[in-house]
Parts: sequence; C-alpha cells; structure tokens
Amino acid sequence: MPLDVVTIDGPAGAGKSATSRALAKRLGFEYLNTGAMYRAIALRALRLRVDLTNASALAAVARAITLESIDGRTIMDGEDVTDAVRAPEISRVVRYPANAPEVRAILVEQQRRIGLSRAIVTEGRDQGTAVFPDARCKFYLDASAEERARRRLGELRARGEEAALDVILSQILERDRLDSERAVGPLCAPEDAVRVDSDGKTIEEVVDEMERVARAKLPHFTGRERPRA
Ligand code: C5P
Repeated sequence: MPLDVVTIDGPAGAGKSATSRALAKRLGFEYLNTGAMYRAIALRALRLRVDLTNASALAAVARAITLESIDGRTIMDGEDVTDAVRAPEISRVVRYPANAPEVRAILVEQQRRIGLSRAIVTEGRDQGTAVFPDARCKFYLDASAEERARRRLGELRARGEEAALDVILSQILERDRLDSERAVGPLCAPEDAVRVDSDGKTIEEVVDEMERVARAKLPHFTGRERPRA
C-alpha cells in the first residue's frame, strides 16, 4: 500500500496545481499532475489526427505512449510537453480522453505505479477516491465559481489576453458539470478528505494549512520532523 501519497482533488481553478507543487516541495515529495497525463493523450491524438470520439482509438494512443513525471514536468516519449498540454486547443478536447473508461484504466494504473515507487503529492479529480483510496492524507480543495473565474481572468490579463468575466464563469460552470457527471472517475470529495476552501486565501496560507495536516497524518513524518528545504 502506498503510504506516502497526498491526494489533492477539486474543481478546475481551485488552485490545485500551485498548491500541490508548493506542498510537494515543502514535504520533499514529488509532484504529480494527473490532468497533464489526460492532456498528453489529447495532444498526441490531435497530432495523429485520431478521431477523438473513438474511445478505442484513444486507448490505443494511451497504450502506445510512455508518460513520465520528472520534477513535476510531464514527459511524453522523452519530449517535455508540460507547456504544450496547457494550450487552449488541448483544453477544448481533453474531455474526450478523460471520458474514455479504457484510457482512464491505463492512466490510473500508471498513477498507482508512480505512487508505489516514490512519495508524491498528486492532484486531479479522482486521486483520493478511485486511484488512491487508501492514501492517509487527502485534501479536497475548493473555491467559489466566482472566485475561480476572477483568478482565470487575472491569469489571462497577465498574458495580455482579454475576456469577459461572465463568459469565463459560464465556462467554469460547464467544466464543473462535465467533471462531476462523468460516468468513470467523476469529481467528488472523498469522504475522508480534509476540505480546504481557498476563497480569499493566498497560496501560502493554503499550503501552510495543508502542510500542518500532512505532517500530522503521514507515517513519513509522524514522530519525526524533517527539516524544511
Ligand atoms: O486539471 P486539468 O484541467 O489539467 O485537467 C484536464 C482534464 O482532465 C479535465 O477535463 C479533467 O476533468 C480531467 N482529469 C481527469 N482526472 C484527473 C485529472 C484530470 O479526468 N485525475
């Protein structure tokens, strides 16, 4: 059983990536971004012009790919695709591999293998429920849809892009709906997760809260504090 696994699930825009990365650093664990794994399948499928509505074709793509997570970066067959998978055209189609049960089975197995081989902070939608139900330390990170939309607008503006807040808000609500209505691996809070609401909090404050919980719960730390990096 993987002992040193911290799971962080929650909706898009709650701050999972930034907090997971920072928490992993503080604990001296690796950071695993499972959304990036679904995105990598979408990227390869687009490049190969695979029919995205054909679940078996997507599963064949998933089986043929070697995915690695190194220092929090996503490596697909030796190529660092961390930035490429964040492109808007990938966001638009990633629901196809994410909704394909066969693809999920392949990626879930890879995620478990990674969790057995090293201490990880892993973020996604189903990490504490379907992938690592026995993890000792689980978080459900949430924020209101309005706050998540405001953050997204801020990110876009920082990149010199303009968008309307109400359009972003409706996209976020639509993503929440798709995430929670998925037949396999839907987004839902694990019963034994610590719920953290990031509304009105800085990343630092959220990570402080999580670090306290993780150090109290994980066998890795109990009875023995590791010095901070
Ligand atoms: O978190 P991110 O936006 O990168 O996730 C990309 C897509 O992968 C989303 O559609 C999300 O629902 C899906 N996903 C998933 N299971 C995970 C992580 C992400 O279905 N464990």
